[in-house]
Amino acid sequence: MRHTTTLRAALAASTHDRIVYDLDGIEGQYAALLRELPGVSVRFAMKACPVDEVLAALARVGAGCDAASPHEIAQALRAGVPAGRIHYGNTVKSDRNIAEAYRLGVRDFATDSLADVAALAVHAPGARVFCRLATSGEGALWGLSRKFGCSPEDAVLVLEAARAAGLTPSGLSVHVGSQQMTSEAWQRALDELAAVTEALNRRGILLDHVNLGGGLPALGVLDKRGRPLDPPLDKMFAVLRAGMQRLREVSASPLDFLLEPGRHLVADHGAIRAHVSRLSARRQLSGERQHWLYLSCGKFNGLYEMDELQYRLEFPTHPDPPYVPAVVAGPTCDSDDAYADEGGLVPVPAAAASGDPVWIFSCGAYATAYTTQGFNGFQPLPYTCIRGGGLSTGGTE
Ligand SMILES: *Cc1c(COP(=O)(O)O)cnc(C)c1O
Repeated sequence: MRHTTTLRAALAASTHDRIVYDLDGIEGQYAALLRELPGVSVRFAMKACPVDEVLAALARVGAGCDAASPHEIAQALRAGVPAGRIHYGNTVKSDRNIAEAYRLGVRDFATDSLADVAALAVHAPGARVFCRLATSGEGALWGLSRKFGCSPEDAVLVLEAARAAGLTPSGLSVHVGSQQMTSEAWQRALDELAAVTEALNRRGILLDHVNLGGGLPALGVLDKRGRPLDPPLDKMFAVLRAGMQRLREVSASPLDFLLEPGRHLVADHGAIRAHVSRLSARRQLSGERQHWLYLSCGKFNGLYEMDELQYRLEFPTHPDPPYVPAVVAGPTCDSDDAYADEGGLVPVPAAAASGDPVWIFSCGAYATAYTTQGFNGFQPLPYTCIRGGGLSTGGTE
């Protein structure tokens, strides 16, 4: 893909394992998103890439952050994100979390229950709250359907309770599930948002914003069988534009629109330089002889999502066949540290030898945050941030 050129150069220059983030690529992705959805404010879901340079780059071009804990808020502030552009997007928070966030200057809080509203009224007096509606998560690789959000009826009760407790009921939010693959999911969410907005208006609650959440997909990842996912991005944007227009029409008050993309902004602009640990063949219990390609990084140091998807791999020292079909796996003693059992085999160079470099693309989202503190002694990857010229702008060794 076009945007991998600068990443490729940085990977080629790496003699050791590392993860590389292309800041120009991430900024370009942000700009492209705003061209598709003019006027929308972005609150980057920072768990998708909690890297100082990435947060700072996005802050400079105007994005804020969707933070989920006081530590994330503090990191966003250190990276230069103004407190007014940070919201506490996690519906799960303790009294102490709320008080700390409030002390750090955050005034916008997600909620989805009466218990949380009562705590916000005490520990974040007068704050603005937006209520998250539950979604089915249908059509997404990760549904996020059970743990967050309430029914439309409850959303009305929750925001009425917020008003009664001296908080400002300011908005509604949804999350249609991560790596959402269908435009219909947004259509359903937007229909529901319109209905709840009208119900709230009838009770005299006037909203000032609607938060359409995350879920926009990465484009360069492969499904479990190794096929391109090919999400219908243009259709999604068309549904979002039409849905926002309709919401503006039904709302009794003027609405701003927020989006909390995580994956979509960073996934395709991060890549890993790893190496081959070993290519081996073993007869399995089924009697079948199976090739396994063990890489130096896997589920616990960069490829956490490898059980739900596959990544494009490149073997720069083996550009030519022959290839053998192999299961790709990480280096640890955990059997989950591998592509899914039912997954597709990956063609890998038959001559792949221990130490050979491997480039892994579209793994810029959820790599850093899901890295363990050295599971089995395999260390977190150092990272580098680059700009167009391949210029390094910071990172860790
Ligand atoms: C994780 C998360 C996001 C980002 O989701 P993506 O699918 O990566 O875009 C957005 N909002 C909230 C509340 C989240 O928890």
